[in-house]
Amino acid sequence: MAIIVQKFGGTSVGDTDRIRNVARKVKAEVEAGHQVAVVVSAMAGVTNQLVAHTRDIAEDADPSEYDVVVSTGEQVTTGLLALALRSIGVAARSWQGWQIPIRTDDVHAKARIEDISVERLRAALERGEVAVVPGFQGLSDNQRITTLGRGGSDTSAVALAAALKADRCDIYTDVDGVYTTDPRIVARARKLDKITYEEMFEMASLGAKVLQTRSVEMAMKHRVRLQVRSSFDDGPGTLVVDEDEIVEQEVVSGIAYSRDEAKVTVAGLRDRPGVASAVFGPLADANINVDMIIQNVSQDGKTANLTFTVPEGELRRALDVLETHKEDLRFERLIANADVAKISVVGVGMRSHAGVAQRMFQALADKSINIQVISTSEIKVSVLIAEDYTELALRALHTAYGLDADAP
Ligand code: ADP
Ligand code: ASP
Ligand code: MG
Repeated sequence: MAIIVQKFGGTSVGDTDRIRNVARKVKAEVEAGHQVAVVVSAMAGVTNQLVAHTRDIAEDADPSEYDVVVSTGEQVTTGLLALALRSIGVAARSWQGWQIPIRTDDVHAKARIEDISVERLRAALERGEVAVVPGFQGLSDNQRITTLGRGGSDTSAVALAAALKADRCDIYTDVDGVYTTDPRIVARARKLDKITYEEMFEMASLGAKVLQTRSVEMAMKHRVRLQVRSSFDDGPGTLVVDEDEIVEQEVVSGIAYSRDEAKVTVAGLRDRPGVASAVFGPLADANINVDMIIQNVSQDGKTANLTFTVPEGELRRALDVLETHKEDLRFERLIANADVAKISVVGVGMRSHAGVAQRMFQALADKSINIQVISTSEIKVSVLIAEDYTELALRALHTAYGLDADAP
């Protein structure tokens, strides 16, 4: 007998028929003799609606009350799934995050899980009862409800699997696995049978939202056997595994994109030691995440331009912070552009192959796509381009790295 965690995303529980479908998938695991804990998201669109309600009342809603509101979507689906399970003869009960409890820090709206008490859940599983658990929800030390950031139910599922020492954590979603790139954008994307934790982590943090980044980080740390699969058919999905489990490693395994980027140029800075620190210090103090960076010095060597990217949602704040420090930074002007996208190629094979970045630059040049900023690390190359060219760039790169599936 195995312990299995199954997680169903928003589309998979999008209406009551789909919740009945989920109940059948849970029942199949119970009938196979397993102990099952199920993690559910809110119905598709519900969290967005709840976020909109809070914004409507207060644009910068107090984060602890924001969490009280946005966490409720998951309460509904836990109750509905428990009912659906009982109606087909499967013993089940719903648990709320605070009842378990799922302990987090108190960073509202993007809390981190610190501990999950599993004694009572385990007793329920041993009695043969399915535990239906809400994704996304947590409880802080101050006894306030927290949420884990958008897409956080994946992390709830992996954390629960780690705490229960589960044999498997299956993430059911609206695609049948992890693809070489987003299959909704590139029709010739290919499903991967396996992907390494490291590559999946990069793909997620570079924008592939099929798994929340923290869930991959946690799976890697606790060696959770993670699988992404479809709620709507029974085929095998994609296993996230250690590197040594992959026999034939491609140089590039996947391509990710993010439109949630904005570019800022601080122009005409006086070039002197400490200038980068003077710009990025206040941004760090304001908790703004700076990603790609380039610095150019003017021909006379006296002034410099510093260009960097921040998440689009933080652009306004970043500009405000820089304006506030204009006196001591002594720059000429700020230039902001939110119409940019980051495209990244990812693969552990890059460690041992040269020319990967060049192939990217050539493929983009062939389509006359201008590269605005470049950044690289051991297993990825990212470029910033005009947002309008996102799809064209993805398709061109997908072909250039030989990732295209054969035409059907
Ligand atoms: P859920 O609601 O089940 O959590 P998400 O919408 O968060 O589902 O994630 C699934 C979506 O991720 C897919 O519909 C797909 O469009 C997108 N996606 C982006 N990149 C990839 C990729 N490389 N492979 C598979 N899906 C991807
Ligand atoms: N319902 C939450 C969201 O939409 C959490 C999740 O679905 O993973 O972000
Ligand atoms: Mg998701």
